[in-house]
Parts: sequence; structure tokens; C-alpha cells
Amino acid sequence: MSEIEEHLAAVRAVIGAACARAMRDPDSVRLVAVSKRKPAAAVLAAFDAGVRHFGENRVEELQEKRAAVMTGLQARDAVDALHWHMIGHIQSRKARHVPHLADMVESVDSVAIAERLSRQVVEHGQAPLPVLVQVNVSGEETKGGLEASGWQNAAAVRDGVLDQMRTILALPGLAVRGLMTMAPYVDDAELVRPVFVELRTLRDAMQAALAVDLPELSMGMTNDYAVAIEEGATIVRIGRAIFGERD
Ligand SMILES: *Cc1c(COP(=O)(O)O)cnc(C)c1O
Repeated sequence: MSEIEEHLAAVRAVIGAACARAMRDPDSVRLVAVSKRKPAAAVLAAFDAGVRHFGENRVEELQEKRAAVMTGLQARDAVDALHWHMIGHIQSRKARHVPHLADMVESVDSVAIAERLSRQVVEHGQAPLPVLVQVNVSGEETKGGLEASGWQNAAAVRDGVLDQMRTILALPGLAVRGLMTMAPYVDDAELVRPVFVELRTLRDAMQAALAVDLPELSMGMTNDYAVAIEEGATIVRIGRAIFGERD
């Protein structure tokens, strides 16, 4: 077994155990392998080991790596089987490239970027782009997303995030599938369990208030994905546990 295969086997075992504890079907959790700052060869190795979803956080890097991976994957059906998730903040001047590069954008972190992406999709006659809306439920200032910390106790925060969500949901070029968040970096994942509960609760509140279906919850990274799955994650974004530490 290659190193990546070994890491993947370990990650899949952790996902399986977390699903068993939460009485969930392991197929209800999608693994997105975060390949940022890793070469195309690493993506191809993970693809050979069965990974089908990859995450990148910079537009240029996604563009270059996607091209390199497509060259490496000869068969057309293999190319179609591989899905790219944009998971990082998108600068407005780079937004026009994204609908051609990403199969899902998990990092729609403002109404402005949502509007830009939607306009691109509509102008090019593309099918609505699947997206997740990133929200900040932890209150950590370095974390992006619609501001939602303390929404349960602050009507202004709750109304603000609901209004922004309503605007995004109305955009013709986007198909909003759910929410994404980044928890603060901690050594003990139990400390961020409340962040995951908060995201799920906010999703439930949005579904009720806006009469929409938001099935996806993207939460959980290398340090905390087992806890995120216990709290309902449908997508986990895992980099280091699969590809090793980044430079
Ligand atoms: C880098 C990154 C990850 C993966 O982090 P690891 O700790 O390597 O698992 C997940 N989500 C986002 C948005 C990231 O930028």
C-alpha cells in the first residue's frame, strides 16, 4: 500500500466508527480530499485509491492542478468522475473563472460573491452551480462567511443572516445545497462540538424560516472530523490526514 492508501484507509475507518456511534450510514458522509499545496501526482494517487472529490482553496492553484490532473487521467470517464470543490475565499476579480473550474463552491461567503458567480453562470448559459453558503458561527474574526455568531440570542444577527440567505437563494445561477463552516483550530475536538451543533441548528432554522431544503452540512477537517460527523456533517474536508503535513 502507498502512504496515501494507508492514510485513506485510516480516515475511512474513523469515518466508519463515527457513523456507527451516530447510527448513520457511512455513505451519507462525502469525503473531500483537500489537495491544496500538494502536487497533481498526489491527487492522481488518491483518485486511484477511490477518492472522487477534491478541495482547493485558491483559484489559480485549482486551475493549474485541474489541468495537470486531466492530462494525467487519460480516460474520459475518469475525468468526468473527478469532482472539484472550491473551499477558499474567492476574490471578486477571479470569480469569473470559478464556474468553469469547480463542480461545487463551498465558500460562498458574501452576497456580493454569490451575485458575481450567479451572473457568470447565467451569462454562459451554464446549469445552476451547486454551492454551499459559508457561515461564521464561532465568532472568530479570521474565519470568513456570513456573520452568524450568537444568532440564537440576537434577533438582528438572525434576521441579517436570513435576509442574506434569502437573497442568495433567489439568484438564478446558483443551486444552494446547504451550509459550510470552519471551526477554530483546537487540539481537543470536543471544544468545537458546539460550533457544529450551532451550524446544524442554524440550518434547521433556515429550512423552517425560508421553506428550503438545505441537505448538506460541510464541517470537519483533520483535527475534528469525527466529532463533526457525530453532529451531522454530510461533507468532511480533509487535507493533512490524507496527504500529510503541508509545507
Ligand atoms: C485546508 C483546509 C481544509 C483541510 O484542513 P486539514 O487540517 O488539512 O484537514 C479544510 N477546509 C478548508 C476551507 C481549508 O482551507
